[in-house]
Amino acid sequence: MVTPARIDRDEVFLEVTKSICPVCKSVIDAEVNVRDDKVYLRKRCRDHGPFEALVYGDAQMYMDSLRFNKPGTLPLETQTEAVDGCPLDCGLCPEHKQHACVALIEVNSNCNLDCPVCFADSGHQPDGFSLDAGQVETMIDTFVRAEGEPEVLMFSGGEPSIHPEIVEFIAMAKRKGVRQAVLNTNGIRLARDAGFAEQLAEHGTGIYLQFDGLRPETHLALRGVDLRETKVRALAACEAAGLTASLVAAVDRDSNLAELGDILRFGFEHPAVRSVVFQPITNAGRHISFDPLTRLTNSDVVHTIVEQMPETFRVSDFFPVPCCFPTCRSVTYLLIDGDDVVPVPRVLNVDEHLDYITNRALPDPAIKEALERLWSASAVPGTTVTAEQLECATCAIDLPAAATALAEKAFMIVIQDFQDPYTLNVKQLMKCCVEQLTPDGRMIPFCAYNSVGYREEVREQLTGVPVPPIVPNAIPLQPILATSDHGSRVAVAPGAERSRDQRNIGRRR
Ligand code: SF4
Ligand code: SF4
Ligand code: SF4
Repeated sequence: MVTPARIDRDEVFLEVTKSICPVCKSVIDAEVNVRDDKVYLRKRCRDHGPFEALVYGDAQMYMDSLRFNKPGTLPLETQTEAVDGCPLDCGLCPEHKQHACVALIEVNSNCNLDCPVCFADSGHQPDGFSLDAGQVETMIDTFVRAEGEPEVLMFSGGEPSIHPEIVEFIAMAKRKGVRQAVLNTNGIRLARDAGFAEQLAEHGTGIYLQFDGLRPETHLALRGVDLRETKVRALAACEAAGLTASLVAAVDRDSNLAELGDILRFGFEHPAVRSVVFQPITNAGRHISFDPLTRLTNSDVVHTIVEQMPETFRVSDFFPVPCCFPTCRSVTYLLIDGDDVVPVPRVLNVDEHLDYITNRALPDPAIKEALERLWSASAVPGTTVTAEQLECATCAIDLPAAATALAEKAFMIVIQDFQDPYTLNVKQLMKCCVEQLTPDGRMIPFCAYNSVGYREEVREQLTGVPVPPIVPNAIPLQPILATSDHGSRVAVAPGAERSRDQRNIGRRR
């Protein structure tokens, strides 16, 4: 009798973790594997079968990033108890590993656009919500109690600039001790309302401007309308008022991946722009259909930037941000002086200072501290604080002329891959440092808010209108998907509704 030959698996097993079923949101085991030099998360739901998604397009970068994992800092206060386990106890619950570098308040669900891509599922909707000053005050107070001296509060939506009290909310945040308020906006009001930028400038507001690209096709694919002129006017208003802006691009493989270099060059040249944020499209809420196995990841964005601007960048110029889980976000800084662009990691050993595993003794702790503040989710480019940290980090180095005016010339690039119901890994989530504030006094990690069902729950509480569980618009799920009233997808297959009773979200403890 011939003994059959054993067959090797085609992947390297890295670890077991927990995730959720993208359809019913039940918490299920998941495993992380490396295959063909890429990292995948795989899981199986008892009722809805197997799921697999790409989580990092470069396995070597994934493994290398794990050294950049800073010990977390406890918040001063948590808001819930650990009862049912992560991610059902948000939050923050006492099991959470990090305080909040950044918090968000979604002041409304209405918007002056109806983008095909909107993780908040917002737009011109009759059943939306608009927070009042009392609710916003409660949320800011929660943030202040948890942080003591909170770093960054982002006002988002919907479109926050159309909220009639948005400037008052920003002023309130500043009065209560928030160091930096940021407005996440599509720029329409900045472009059209002559006095708006000045009002924001009175409070030193940072501007996160939706800016997906320079081609009309990109605007039509991701926003439904050509907003190129609007963006130019919005940035001109920022410049005139002395506001600094970050260009925030949702990146889609088919729509605008080819434009990363052009977006960067545009940012380098515009006087109001101090950073570019690239976010692979979040496959939560409303979005175009996608293949989970070929979705964009942080390492894909890094490689694409290098391919499109080889004269300026190397892959080794980008480092993971250590305050959150290191696979969540990567950053680099540049010193720009005319045509001279110098990535800071070329002149400073960032690797050595932000490696928390080998823990080498470093000659100058002040440089490490400055780099930690720069490679942080709370770093807001264009502010004095960021300029001072750069100055400190580079003080002992013989820099090019650019260093003489760091506040003016420093430029930041952020690459941030938010998790979705396919890619959610509680290992990352437990160290999340970006929290969504809710009117009932919780601070919910942003990726949990968008993936686990918290967004649906809070919207339902605020509007009184039932919100069905949102399911990713993934190609393998098409046979069971229907379109919701807001354009996102819901499951029509029997059993999908089961999730509502299984989640414990919404129960205050
Ligand atoms: S993500 Fe954090 S706050 Fe939420 S359940 Fe997990 S540990 Fe708790
Ligand atoms: S992505 Fe932003 S601008 Fe577009 S509909 Fe959503 S909230 Fe409005
Ligand atoms: S928001 Fe998501 S991607 Fe960002 S730090 Fe939190 S878990 Fe990571």
